[in-house]
Amino acid sequence: MLVLAIETSCDETSVALVRDGSRILSNVVSSQVDIHERFGGVVPELASRKHLENIGIVIDEALHKAQLSLNDVEGICVTRGPGLIGALLVGLSTAKALAFALRVPWVGLHHMEGHILAVKLERELEFPFLALAVSGAHTHLYRVDGYGCYQTLGRTLDDAAGEAYDKVGKLLGLGYPAGAAIDRLAAEGDSGRWTFPRALLQKDNLDFSFSGLKTAVWSQVSKVSPDAEEVRHIAAGFQEAVVDVLTRKTLKAVAGSGLRRVVVAGGVACNRGLRERFNMLAERHDFDVYFPSPGLCADNAAMLAVAGNFYLENGCSESLSLNAVAQWILDSVKFSFD
Ligand code: ZN
Repeated sequence: MLVLAIETSCDETSVALVRDGSRILSNVVSSQVDIHERFGGVVPELASRKHLENIGIVIDEALHKAQLSLNDVEGICVTRGPGLIGALLVGLSTAKALAFALRVPWVGLHHMEGHILAVKLERELEFPFLALAVSGAHTHLYRVDGYGCYQTLGRTLDDAAGEAYDKVGKLLGLGYPAGAAIDRLAAEGDSGRWTFPRALLQKDNLDFSFSGLKTAVWSQVSKVSPDAEEVRHIAAGFQEAVVDVLTRKTLKAVAGSGLRRVVVAGGVACNRGLRERFNMLAERHDFDVYFPSPGLCADNAAMLAVAGNFYLENGCSESLSLNAVAQWILDSVKFSFD
């Protein structure tokens, strides 16, 4: 089945053409980062307007790259939520219009279902497995038993890990987004020079908290005026605290669930420090860890086509009255099959 996928939940306009839920024919991502960086974060209204300008162009480019036409499309999937409501509506309305005009089925998907299953675009991976989903808006640990079968085991109680990266990056004058810059600087710094707190690590649950860490960095760093070398050490200490918490909570989930497969997904899964630590721990504690390649970790449309293709092939199609949802718990994703 040839599926056209659309992702517009935040500040990337992305369209992909994917065959049979596994073969990416094109995956075009148009980033708006140059628009939002001067504000130090995504401005929702600007994001929606830019999606509206971009969406037609990105669809054309995706078709052109795949050397296909709209008439070849057999099904459509789109991010329905969670995300910025105005941004989501651009993608959802486009998907509905295309599905109606082309007379093909369509499905609206949960953004994190896309992130978690992106790994299946590159390798066979059987259910069940654990998924650590980390991005600018999410830090969740899930048990994944199949398509549409997700159970939240733990989640952040305040900031997402990616959000903490961006806020600390701003504090250190590293611009926005700051994840890649902190990761690069951390590799050159000494993580033992600055010690930052690890919240909830002693608790018997799998929840996360990053807002205290951000405040701790702020209160310690604002007492000094760090030079370039000191910024590297601060970045290393901060990254060490984040990686420590993410990996130790995941290890706890591995021990508690008995599952030996772990998927790390979302934009923060690009982080080299996090990948290295997980690979080391997987070897030591005898479990398998899987990361999508970096292009599939960040927001992109192809990631949606894994679940999209499955639901569409099983007879799902949404009503044109379906609406976008800004807040949506992954556990409540439900699809009915004919
Ligand atoms: Zn995302």
